[in-house]
Amino acid sequence: MKKRILLLAGGQSGEHEVSLMSARSVLAALPRDQFDVTPVVISKQGRWLPPTGTQQALESGEAPTGGDLVLHRVASAEGYDAVFPLLHGPMGEDGTIQGLLTLAGIPFVGSGVLGSAVSMDKVMTKQVLASAGVPQVEWRLALRREWRDQPALVEGRAAELGFPLFVKPANLGSSVGISKVSRTQDLAPALDLAFSLDRRVILEAMTSHKPREVEVGILGNDAPVASPVGELSFEAEFYDYETKYTEGRAEMHIPARLPREVAEQVRETALKAFRALDCAGLARVDFFYVEETGELYLNEVNTMPGFTTTSMYPKLFEAAGVSYSELVTRLVSLALEER
Ligand code: ADP
Ligand code: MG
Ligand code: MG
Repeated sequence: MKKRILLLAGGQSGEHEVSLMSARSVLAALPRDQFDVTPVVISKQGRWLPPTGTQQALESGEAPTGGDLVLHRVASAEGYDAVFPLLHGPMGEDGTIQGLLTLAGIPFVGSGVLGSAVSMDKVMTKQVLASAGVPQVEWRLALRREWRDQPALVEGRAAELGFPLFVKPANLGSSVGISKVSRTQDLAPALDLAFSLDRRVILEAMTSHKPREVEVGILGNDAPVASPVGELSFEAEFYDYETKYTEGRAEMHIPARLPREVAEQVRETALKAFRALDCAGLARVDFFYVEETGELYLNEVNTMPGFTTTSMYPKLFEAAGVSYSELVTRLVSLALEER
């Protein structure tokens, strides 16, 4: 019997278009002798599109409008063996969809409510990983209300970290709303921007030098494995939205040119983080390696990383001998596996 798969793409976050790109690749790669795949694109307004709208959105790659309210459509998900929620960012990678599918009793690819929600939130991730002894940069939390009513308090926290520092919305991705702040006068605009996107903002000390950015893929449920380590190199000040999504701005190196013991430490730390955060299925774990000092910091855990055929996560497993189509097939099996 073929497995019936519902592939969810698009979604309400700033990473809507990225998700559509990933979905096209996954759709083409799921072997048709094993799977019956139905794609459903979710609009930026959070509505589930009917087949024609979904097809148009996948072909054009543009955010569509229209569609049904999500709760009208949950019941229709019942006919599926598994859901592949190929959604990035808020309302997709953060436990919300995962909660809906859990309530509906439908298995799905990737982390559950807990792992998704905690990994999406940069502050919660840092707190959990600190208690697991994972090295991270120094950071402070600030709330929108604090910035509005007691700005000096928030400025004081920034001063504790010193410049340059990074200001980030706690629950976003793709570098949306992130600023590198090098001077006092740039702090307020950076905080205004981040607070326009999130109620919670994280301030982070910058690494002592511009870090090398190394990433590793994790695959599995309660016995996860780590891929080889990859590296991204680019000219920009930091890995911002433009650098991420403009063709030719960043280069991928697999395997990363790292001393063997550093690569091993990256893989072990990533596995430890995956377990500590109760992730499942897949995750891409990103690190900063400061070559000058040998420091290694875990930056973040992405529970639904970019998934086009040229994205880092599938490329890392390809380097380990797992083809793109084997990888998506394996992810569906992991979704159906008893844990
Ligand atoms: P996102 O979830 O949007 O990808 P990240 O936390 O990964 O956000 O930050 C985006 C980029 O900003 C990183 O890839 C890196 O280039 C830069 N960056 C973020 N935090 C730091 C830091 N503490 N030190 C140095 N660079 C940083
Ligand atoms: Mg991220
Ligand atoms: Mg990142």
